Amino acid sequence: MPGTLHLLNHPLAQSFLTDIRDRQAGRDVVRERIRALSLLLFYEATRDLPHKQVRVTTPLTETDGTRVGTTVGLVPILRAGLGMVEGILEILPDARVFHLGIFRDEQTLQPVEYYSKLAHNPPVDVAFVLDPMLATGGSACAAVGRLKSWGVKRVKFLGLFAAPEGLEKLNAEHPDAEVFLCAVDDHLNERGYIVPGMGDAGDRQFSGS
Ligand code: URA
Repeated sequence: MPGTLHLLNHPLAQSFLTDIRDRQAGRDVVRERIRALSLLLFYEATRDLPHKQVRVTTPLTETDGTRVGTTVGLVPILRAGLGMVEGILEILPDARVFHLGIFRDEQTLQPVEYYSKLAHNPPVDVAFVLDPMLATGGSACAAVGRLKSWGVKRVKFLGLFAAPEGLEKLNAEHPDAEVFLCAVDDHLNERGYIVPGMGDAGDRQFSGS
């Protein structure tokens, strides 16, 4: 396992993950569990977030405190990453959100960016790429590379499931990017799905029957 990999081995997290794997789970359950897991992943991934000392006045006296001392960007990869944003914003409401649209060209199999607003903004200090599925690793590598060229110094990847192939690719191309996951599954099938996984993460959240 690469040194930058953190697995969320908490019993609650693994129970939520099992709920998501279950093909019988409806969109409401899948969305709710993804929301909760994203929050837990973000909690783990922000342990080393820089903070600054501040003075605060309580109703009784003045005392020392700390506040987050860095700018944070959430970068959901469309469309499955959308479901990871809401839970995180509950605990860090002033994080900035930059949607990134990337698809895989069927001919070249290379990731192609089709939507981004990054260039219109100054870079954040720390960016969190959000995608429930780290499958081939193509989109994740493209997203991390894009954030680095935008000027972000620290990039972390948050996902639910990974295939070993995708994890290896991400670690080989961006060894400095920390990866936070709930599970590393068995393999990718011939259609690029993680097995056992959860199926199509976009459909399961937004449009599946
Ligand atoms: N994307 C998905 O939605 N599911 C997978 O299993 C792999 C990629």
